[in-house]
Amino acid sequence: MQQQLEQMEQTALQEISGVQDLNALNEIRVKYLGKKGELTQILRGMGTLSPEERPVIGQLANTVRERLESALESKTAELKEKAKQERLAREKIDVTLPGRPVLRGHKHPLTQVLEEIQEIFMGMGFAVAEGPEIEYDYYNFEALNLPKDHPARDMQDSFYVTGEILLRTHTSPVQVRTMEAMRPQVPVKIIAPGKVYRRDDDATHSPMFHQVEGLVIDRDISFAHLKGTLLLFARQMFGPEREIRLRPSFFPFTEPSAEVDISCMMCGGAGCRVCKGTGWLEILGAGMVHPNVLAMSGYNPEEVTGFAFGMGVERIAMLKYGIDDLRLLFDNDLRFLQQF
Ligand SMILES: [Zn+2]
Repeated sequence: MQQQLEQMEQTALQEISGVQDLNALNEIRVKYLGKKGELTQILRGMGTLSPEERPVIGQLANTVRERLESALESKTAELKEKAKQERLAREKIDVTLPGRPVLRGHKHPLTQVLEEIQEIFMGMGFAVAEGPEIEYDYYNFEALNLPKDHPARDMQDSFYVTGEILLRTHTSPVQVRTMEAMRPQVPVKIIAPGKVYRRDDDATHSPMFHQVEGLVIDRDISFAHLKGTLLLFARQMFGPEREIRLRPSFFPFTEPSAEVDISCMMCGGAGCRVCKGTGWLEILGAGMVHPNVLAMSGYNPEEVTGFAFGMGVERIAMLKYGIDDLRLLFDNDLRFLQQF
């Protein structure tokens, strides 16, 4: 039996030293030291031994078990270390590899155009004013000479929140709020950029769009100031060869009022598909601030005058870049956006 134990130890130690992975090592542990393992099998024969032999063999069996366990333990540690080294070797970073290109974004074309418009007017000494997008009927309509029963309200199909509160249909309420805050001081010289909302949805209208409005109030402000300001804007925005044309129009908050066209930059005014053969492109509406609007916001129309204008940023962007469908600006298709 002593020989059997020693033989088993020799074989087991050889197997342990030759093993290459942790699973195989565990199988060896079960094979020799498990409940039905070889050591147990051998010790079953203890009953046949004499009383003198039993403690000697018991002692030897314990020693063999300890040696095997110790060998298994150090082999386990060795295999774990080996696996770790292999993993580290595999995960080594090659710093000489070229990096993965990172896609860089840029500003949306509407943001670019909006910022360009702001830059031009700031260069002329305008300050930028902002206000709420959810507005009182009073600021959006009434204070702009559009009383409740005024037919021109139909020109701006509105999103009402309650009877007295709506999503602003233009940034004109910012002009009213600015006048209220500054009265009776002059000069007032602001632009009001921002989002506005109307119930419109087709290739040239979106229920949400952006406007930049301008307002100047001072003593002796005339229509010539308005025309000069808009001509300078048109030339900085669309090129130094541009001319502007003012056509009589109607807005409740200005008197007189005008639609403003620029000479077509595609054909230089000769007439083409873009300008529908006219040589002119409509870019904005403008006029002299109506005396009622000045008076309602606390300015004396006998003492001061003013002009105002308003343009759609989408319209300007479409003209500048030759975009024929406004909805492209809001689809967020990268193939479109990457062109700007
Ligand atoms: Zn043209």
